[in-house]
Amino acid sequence: MARVLIVGAGLTGSLCATQLRRKASGPLHLTVWDKDGDAGGRMTTTSCVLNPQCTADLGAQYITCTPHYAKKHQSFYDELLAHGILKPLTSPIEGMLMKEGDCNFVASQGISSIVKHYLKESGAEICFRQCVTQINLRNDKWEVSKETGPPEQFDLIVLTMPVPQILKLQGDIVGLISECQRQQLESVSYSSRYALGLFYEAGTKIDVPWAGQYITSNPCIRFISIDNKKRNIESSEIGPSLVIHTTVPFGITYLEHRTEDVQELIIQQLNNIFPGLPQPVGTKCQKWRYSQVTSAVPNCPGQMTLHFKPFLVCGGDGFTESNFDGCITSALCILEALRSHI
Ligand code: FAD
Repeated sequence: MARVLIVGAGLTGSLCATQLRRKASGPLHLTVWDKDGDAGGRMTTTSCVLNPQCTADLGAQYITCTPHYAKKHQSFYDELLAHGILKPLTSPIEGMLMKEGDCNFVASQGISSIVKHYLKESGAEICFRQCVTQINLRNDKWEVSKETGPPEQFDLIVLTMPVPQILKLQGDIVGLISECQRQQLESVSYSSRYALGLFYEAGTKIDVPWAGQYITSNPCIRFISIDNKKRNIESSEIGPSLVIHTTVPFGITYLEHRTEDVQELIIQQLNNIFPGLPQPVGTKCQKWRYSQVTSAVPNCPGQMTLHFKPFLVCGGDGFTESNFDGCITSALCILEALRSHI
């Protein structure tokens, strides 16, 4: 049975896993490795240490479905709506730019529930805290090394991490990327920003008329949401959670600073904007070095095949655009490239 390794348990990796399971003509042994301790990637949902039921989406906030993708990716939207994973966004988000015909959806169980749904459907073996460091060729197979544990062999590899993290991999893969491909990959750029999650005790009131707000007049804070209100899960037993996204200029300026110091700066600015906010019982500050793609890989929409025998392909939002539909497009292009190999 062909052994397939998908690197990255984010949206693209999880979509690739389900699509491979559903569309492969023969049996496959599917494995997904991620360097983090949980699934989601930039669609992460984090929990308060004191109360795991109090959660916050620190990366992607909501899914915007355009009329074009409502048709093109209808089956994906239908599946998530039928499982109750996506629900229409009904709470007010001030300053949100809406185009005619667009629909917005939230994931009431947290945005990572989308990724977890696809991983479950795929039946793949999922291994966390597996950071891939090297990829080498051994007897027509791939030998993949990680930070801990012995290397393992696979027949086929799909890489879905942000492009700069693909370019960091060592081993034979370095020589297999042609000069032209390297130039294309090196031209990809991402914005950087911080996200801060604040968790409150049950019963805490945050008295604002909105569930989210885009802020245009602050050098540090770009977006703030009452995360549970955004997801329509207000409850007397679970405290509210707040999510703050910084501006990109702030993210770039403080990229190499200590996260604890950056958290303090964000909280100071937050208190300037909303004086009198209650004291949180938990916090989580996340640095997004590779937040959203500002310039995708040119001239190879969806995926880039780095080697044919054995097969190695890379994809992700770096090859399309940073949203739900961008990841679906990439996963479908990867599947197309793999078709004759599975
Ligand atoms: P990722 O989610 O980055 O997944 C890649 C995975 O690879 C990660 O889990 C990582 O841990 C793993 N990895 C990396 N290197 C290695 C390694 N060496 N070994 C093993 N594993 C590795 N999209 C929307 O649709 N709506 C939004 O509102 C929205 N807002 C956003 C706000 C923020 C702050 C951010 C950061 C993103 C937002 N996005 C939004 C974009 C969306 O989150 C991404 O486009 C999408 O999650 C990318 O998925 P991916 O699987 O391609 O990559």
